[in-house]
Amino acid sequence: MPSPVGHSLIGLTLGVAFLVARRRTEGWHKWLGENRGSLLTTVIAANACDLDYLPGLLIGAPNSMHRWLGHTALWAALAGIIIWLLWRRLAPRLPRGALPVLLAVALSHIVADYFDEDTRAPFGILALWPFYDGFLISAHPIFLSLQKTSLADVVSWHNVRAVTQEALLTLPALLVVVFYKLRPIRHDVAPTKPA
Ligand SMILES: [Zn+2]
Repeated sequence: MPSPVGHSLIGLTLGVAFLVARRRTEGWHKWLGENRGSLLTTVIAANACDLDYLPGLLIGAPNSMHRWLGHTALWAALAGIIIWLLWRRLAPRLPRGALPVLLAVALSHIVADYFDEDTRAPFGILALWPFYDGFLISAHPIFLSLQKTSLADVVSWHNVRAVTQEALLTLPALLVVVFYKLRPIRHDVAPTKPA
């Protein structure tokens, strides 16, 4: 499965593309401050499916519940709605289209994990449960599977390579949308009234 880096970059790309208004700002700090709600919620939504590590962590076996019910489109959609409800409660005003964008971001996790080179049985994810109870995995993976059996695995060169590959695949799209949103807007001269 891609790491939080890959999922977050995909989520941020969708968040910046559809929740952030295109306008000129004086600097990065101001831009980040103005859009922190959109950026933070998209990162949370993009990683919500991996909350299924938590029950396993409590019993000392992090992978035991991972990639099952927490990796269904149904849970991703529910997570998107819950995050939207919490955001609506905490923020005075949400950007237009916040709910569909959060749903798309949460579902992007399922799509990204589908394209993971899963090396551990059961291969793939229960993406379409309860409508289809088989594990789904792409025949053409684009993300390397992370090693996470032990702490030494987590900081292994294999994982550094996997995260670098994720960044190379997902960062360019984010840079393009950020560049577009921050590009100076050309102000046309207001039309003059006919005499
Ligand atoms: Zn996942």
